[in-house]
Amino acid sequence: MKSALIILVTVIICGLGVGALTYPGHVFGSSDEDHHFVGAVGGDNSYNRGQEPEDWWSEIKHMHGHVGPWNVLGWRIGQAALRELDTKWGLHELDIICYVPIKTPYSCMADGLVIGTGNTIGRLDLRLAEVACMDLIQVCIHRKDGTGPVLIFQPRPTYLRHIDAPKPEELEKLSRECGNMKESDLFEIRRITTLKI
Ligand SMILES: [Zn+2]
Repeated sequence: MKSALIILVTVIICGLGVGALTYPGHVFGSSDEDHHFVGAVGGDNSYNRGQEPEDWWSEIKHMHGHVGPWNVLGWRIGQAALRELDTKWGLHELDIICYVPIKTPYSCMADGLVIGTGNTIGRLDLRLAEVACMDLIQVCIHRKDGTGPVLIFQPRPTYLRHIDAPKPEELEKLSRECGNMKESDLFEIRRITTLKI
């Protein structure tokens, strides 16, 4: 009888433990506790009232301190992602992982992605992942709702070599050039059709 009671108590305690571990964490901006994503929830709700900067160049300069080809490249990729994945700036419907060596100027791309999409590191819908060298730089973007493909934005290696270690006096020229170049000369977009994550 006593051992049966111990088994019963053990089962209850284990059950509570499993429940606590699997209960979904708080989702910022969400009224849907069953949502699996723990970052910002996308959509046109009161948590997402940001406004796209009218002058992206000034906004990069204001936020980042300088405009350089690496952050303009991030901005171009962000804008392309909004278009390709059918969403708008600041709606937080995209999840972005930026794979770069964790040093400047490569990491400057991340701030361009912020200005280009409205996503931020603090809202967990833009994350940095470290890679060992410039040839492995890519940006992986998909919709949080799991619809549509996963897109890999792979900068052209020749272009990355062109902007590697820019001199301060070249920043403006390289940045303007990046803003005006044909998208396909800057990066390739690979589509991966996959199951919902
Ligand atoms: Zn920079």
